[in-house]
Parts: sequence; C-alpha cells; structure tokens
Amino acid sequence: MKLTAGGILLVMMATLSSGCATPTYQSPKPAPALTLSEAERQQGKALHYRLAQQQRLNRVSWPLLKASTDLCPDKIRPALGFQYANSHSFAPSDAQQTDTKQPASERDAAIREFKLGEVLQVMAVVPGSGADLAGIKTGDKLIKLGEQSLPTGRTALLEAPEILRQQLADLKPDQTIEVTLYRNGQTLTRPLKPQTLCDYPVKRLPSEQINAYADHYSVAITDGMLAFATNEDDLALVIAHELAHNLLDHIPATARNTLLGGALDLLLISQGILSPGAFSLGGSVHFSKAFESEADYLALYLLARAGYDLEGRAEFWRRLSNSRPSHILSETGSTHPGNAERYVRMQAAIAEIRLKQQRKEALVPNTIKP
Ligand SMILES: [Zn+2]
Repeated sequence: MKLTAGGILLVMMATLSSGCATPTYQSPKPAPALTLSEAERQQGKALHYRLAQQQRLNRVSWPLLKASTDLCPDKIRPALGFQYANSHSFAPSDAQQTDTKQPASERDAAIREFKLGEVLQVMAVVPGSGADLAGIKTGDKLIKLGEQSLPTGRTALLEAPEILRQQLADLKPDQTIEVTLYRNGQTLTRPLKPQTLCDYPVKRLPSEQINAYADHYSVAITDGMLAFATNEDDLALVIAHELAHNLLDHIPATARNTLLGGALDLLLISQGILSPGAFSLGGSVHFSKAFESEADYLALYLLARAGYDLEGRAEFWRRLSNSRPSHILSETGSTHPGNAERYVRMQAAIAEIRLKQQRKEALVPNTIKP
C-alpha cells in the first residue's frame, strides 16, 4: 500500500489525536495490598504450572526413552525418576529492589509454595520409575545416596548431578542403591533401582508457538505445543518425533547446540516439526523432507514399543491443518512434507506396525533396500 501526502497527514493527525484521549469511565480502584496479594497468588500458580508441565513431559517421555535404548547404545544413562530442587533453584529477589509494593521474589514464592529450604527436596516422581516403585514421594528431603551425603545450599543443584552419576555408575544391572530420606520428622531408607534410558532430556520451552525442537542432545517442547497436544498420546508422538531426529543423528554437526545454551540460539539453530524453514541459518541446517518422514516413521515404532496408542495418531496432522492450511501441502523450498502427506504416510506406517504386532514380530522399522 502506498500513502499519498494527504494520507500521511491524516494518519499523523489520527495518531496525535489518539495520544490526547483520556478515559471516560471510572473502574473501581483496588487497594494496592489487594493487587500485591493477587500478584503473589499468580506467582505461586505460575510455579505450579511450570512444575506440572515438566512433570507431564517427564511422565510421557519416560517410556519412550526406556523403549529406545537399543537405538542409543552410546548415549544411555541410569535414571532414578525424581526431580529435585532446593530454595536456591529459584531466582532470588533483585538486590536493588527496595519497593515494598513489589511481590515477593520467585525464590520466596517457591519457599512458600513448596516449603523449600537448603536441603534438596523431591519435587516430582515419574510413575513407574525406580523412585516411584521405592515409594519416594514429593516433598521428601534427600539426605544420602548410597554412602554419599547429598549436597545442600547454594551449589547443591550444580553438584548433585555429578554425585548421582558417580554413585549410579558402579551399579551392576539389577543392583539397587539405598537412598536416605527425611519425611515428616523421620529418617527413612529405601532401596532404589535405576532404569536405563536414552540420555536425551525432554524440556519445556516457554514459547506460545506450537512447536518442538531437537538439537542432538535434548528435546524441547513449547508451551504452545503442550497446550495443543492435550492428549498424552499426541504429546508422546511429538516427543518421539524429536527423539527420532536425535537417535538418527539428523542434526548436522554444524548446527548442534545444547538447549541449555539459551532459547534464542535454540530457535535459531534447531528445526521444529511445524515451522518449515522458519528458523534456519542461511539454509545450512535444514532437515530434508526425507529426514522428516524418517523421524515420523521411527516415532510411530517408538510409540508402539512404549505402549502408546497408535489409533488416531495421524489425526494430529489434520488438526494442525485446521489453523494452518498453508501446511496441508509442502510449499516450495519447505524443509517439511505437507500435513496431507504426513497423514497418509503415518496411516500406512501404523498399518505396517499393526501387522507386525499381530504376527508377534519385533518392532523394528524397515530399512531401505539397496
Ligand atoms: Zn522434525
């Protein structure tokens, strides 16, 4: 659209006049203390939301990571199945902040909501994991693993992973390790048996976009996708697709970047399943359409192995096309197949898997014949 000189003047006048507008109606003025207490309430709810979403990711991804260990022989880890934190895991208040009208810091909110202190505390337990089977509960304080005391205080969250790794590294298959806990004023010990998982952590990415990412080291699922994939089987499909990219080594060495490096890098470097070409670096890190189809294909096998329901999974692509009709067919230059092709391919792959299940054959994807 081109504006004439007169048009530009009108736009400027409209802008100026709107700057002078004042409200006509008087809405009720709440007492500052009320707003403050509501802010703290929302802060608490936001913390619970974040924890619940990460719990959901852990719960849904666990069976997939467990069922695919034959495909990640060099990248496995023993996992216990609990998340932990202490008060230092959350951001402190800004030292410069002297305004008492501001709500408490995230750390204060976490202390209030989860009763956190200096000692590491169990925040969530994955159903079916060793921690779950051993009866570990949310809120348990972690004192020792084996003979090793677990760290406390400011650096606990940094030190704990290495201690856990060392303690679990020497365990033989099927061996248990004793965990010492503090619960309701009592010290308890429980035998813990780790399970072996592919070592690709699945994390939540605070973004409203409906998308998911793989970066060779981990998988990230956006808040937008978590809201879109309300069905756990659909969420498992999305995670399995990204996991497949990692398992199949699809991410070029030049594009590898850890998700811990920051969301911006992640968005720039990784390719999502739904944003063809949206985040690429000079076209150098595109997954090919063939890789996308291969990841869709392997994902279904991973779902079947992990016991997820294949029925209706291809509907995911139809649902996506409702709001994104431009993705029904693959656009020129797109890195991803269109949703129509993905639906049809997925239906065929589901039929193939069902046949193998009926024949009691191993759930191994077909390889390309030379
Ligand atoms: Zn993909």
